[in-house]
Amino acid sequence: MDLMINAIDISGGETERHFRIELPFACPYCVKGAFPKHLISYYNEPRFQNYPVVTALFLCPICENLFLATYQDISDYDLSLCSVIPYPSKEKGFSDNIKNLSPDFCKIYNESYKSEQQSLFEICGMGYRKALEFLIKDYAISLNPNNSEEIKRKMLGQCINDYMENDKLKALARASSWLGNDETHYVRQNIDYSLKDLKNFISATVDFIDMELTIKEAQNFTNR
Ligand SMILES: [Zn+2]
Repeated sequence: MDLMINAIDISGGETERHFRIELPFACPYCVKGAFPKHLISYYNEPRFQNYPVVTALFLCPICENLFLATYQDISDYDLSLCSVIPYPSKEKGFSDNIKNLSPDFCKIYNESYKSEQQSLFEICGMGYRKALEFLIKDYAISLNPNNSEEIKRKMLGQCINDYMENDKLKALARASSWLGNDETHYVRQNIDYSLKDLKNFISATVDFIDMELTIKEAQNFTNR
């Protein structure tokens, strides 16, 4: 959605110019897609550059935080959105089961998620792959505490084969690891699958392990 604004000349003066700008599609704090309220904008024409740069201040109507958006030219009048400041950095929440099982997984997953929100699509996939390795290995170690050193040293694929007992979990973990490997290698093997699929498989793996941990807790309770 576009908005007509007046922007004040940064160099002083009372001059104002009219521009048409795109509204940022989400607030960087709450990452909700409500229409932010435009408060004020400034423009300047940096040296060595013959087009205007506009910086606009917005108020999110949901969380009431202020944030900036910067714009550059399409023409002298139409400006396209360049960046939103601060970068969005929403965290994904995990259950207590998962947080206790693998705090490293939660940390690495959320670092990857933040890089994805900053549009760093070439590196966030590698982070998700690393997060998956911590989740699988920490789960394998929780099931086989005596083999912890061996599990830490093994390749992820080998760990999935050797230590994930449930076939459904094995399939999910294997699919996640194959797509995760695509994010780290020069040649992509599974071109029909994307980062979104990788995240879906990891998410289902997390849910499955969470469910298995809850079942185990229920079994311990009823067997007392
Ligand atoms: Zn907000």
